[in-house]
Amino acid sequence: MQQLSHYVNGAHVTGSSGRMADVFNPATGEVQAQVPLASKAEVDAAVEIAAAAQPAWGAVNPQRRARVMMKFVDLLNRDMDKLAEALSREHGKTVPDAKGDVQRGLEVVEYCIAAPQMLKGEFTDSAGPGIDMYSMRQPLGVTAGITPFNFPAMIPMWMFAPAIVCGNAFILKPSERDPSVPLMLAELMEEAGLPKGILQVVNGDKESVDALLDNPIVQSIGFVGSTPIAEYIYGRGCSNGKRVQCFGGAKNHMIIMPDADMDQAADALVGAGYGAAGERCMAISVAVPVGDETADRLIEKLVPRIEKLKVGPYTAGDEVDYGPVVTAAAKANIHRLVETGVEQGAELVVDGRNFSLQGYEDGFFVGPHLFDKVTKDMDIYKTEIFGPVLSTVRAQSYEEAIGLAMDHEYGNGTAIFTRDGDTARDFANRINIGMVGINVPIPVPLAYHTFGGWKKSVFGDLNQHGPDAFKFYTRTKTVTSRWPSGLKEGGEFHFKQMD
Ligand code: NAD
Repeated sequence: MQQLSHYVNGAHVTGSSGRMADVFNPATGEVQAQVPLASKAEVDAAVEIAAAAQPAWGAVNPQRRARVMMKFVDLLNRDMDKLAEALSREHGKTVPDAKGDVQRGLEVVEYCIAAPQMLKGEFTDSAGPGIDMYSMRQPLGVTAGITPFNFPAMIPMWMFAPAIVCGNAFILKPSERDPSVPLMLAELMEEAGLPKGILQVVNGDKESVDALLDNPIVQSIGFVGSTPIAEYIYGRGCSNGKRVQCFGGAKNHMIIMPDADMDQAADALVGAGYGAAGERCMAISVAVPVGDETADRLIEKLVPRIEKLKVGPYTAGDEVDYGPVVTAAAKANIHRLVETGVEQGAELVVDGRNFSLQGYEDGFFVGPHLFDKVTKDMDIYKTEIFGPVLSTVRAQSYEEAIGLAMDHEYGNGTAIFTRDGDTARDFANRINIGMVGINVPIPVPLAYHTFGGWKKSVFGDLNQHGPDAFKFYTRTKTVTSRWPSGLKEGGEFHFKQMD
């Protein structure tokens, strides 16, 4: 069986904690590797290495740091097939989807090549007699990130690329469910010219996360994952004086107005609801058709599309629409929630409960489910299911539909399908959700905009990637200077306007 490692100080290091976790192939259900779970002492040792390496890297000029990113982009493209295969094998998503995972990370790396521009400070000439004032953005030092299983390439890159191009060292604690791709990324960064110790991967669970949260050398923590853990990490990280940004769970609503193109809306819902087995934080998990007539038309269009979905292993290639979910526990949780939906009175229009795939009976496959007549009080509406389960909540008016999305505790993404510009504009302006699609089901902003939700989908002030990332990974210093010719004789005792 494959034994995975940590990546510390430029080398693969076997763990010394004695604790390991199984890494599954979700398509077959087999344990294909074991990953070490780092102890506090192992995390602290990696932090020391990062702290020793960072000052020299921080002193490298931004253009040279950006060149490492340029080379890294080339290497990602060179190894795209290899990365995607490793990703699909541990995560279960299809190969085209795995390539998308790498690609959306790569685009943030490309954006980071603009570091010399983004890190330029501000300058005020002659702020007073002989006085100049300038501000600069400096790295924080040692930074760290904790990432979820569902985008094992993209989300680590969203964090470490901006952190590193800003001159920081970065410690990545990826998900223990699919750690291979993060390890490969760290190797590629060094092949691209990154010095040892600047990007390290420490595998682990709560123990290693807590070690990062409590280590006083670590200046910032980025987290993406479920809301309860996000809230915990935000609280503990902030109380330890760190800069923290945490991105949590989601329950994304798509509103379908009576005037929408119903074929387009149904196609969009199938892709956004069932793609990647529903394991995307931007998946649509709630469809809100406005009016019973719209709902009936929508369901009529959805059912045959959902019944045609092909569920299978990534090795089956382009034939497959989505693969297994990540673990047996995830599968059991989805089935449990589906049962709850039936018990609480929702109408199960497409029933995937008895889905089984010949030859892959032990895989973690979940058939597609469609619920109709879901109501606000049901568990399947309140909870993030994170599986191929779409719930339809019928609203009688646009106001009721927008109200539903606004009242939900999560606020990651949302979408409206309509042909009416006034409604779309009103929706975009009023909705209290961070990422909004108008006739676009998964409105993930591109690298040069920022990504982030509202409400319980986020804890912290700044978003991921785009200009916010350069703010998160630097601190501002402002210098006021006066040279001898500008000095008056005698001291000055009052805090006054510069004249
Ligand atoms: P998770 O919260 O279980 O795990 C995320 C990370 O936290 C992992 O690295 C894990 O090892 C660590 N962790 C788990 N339990 C911990 C604990 N008790 N203490 C400290 N650390 C702990 O999330 P997941 O199942 O890997 O990912 C799915 C979740 O991530 C979903 O809720 C999804 O919506 C969310 N997500 C959000 C975004 C976003 O941008 N908002 C993006 C992707 C995924």
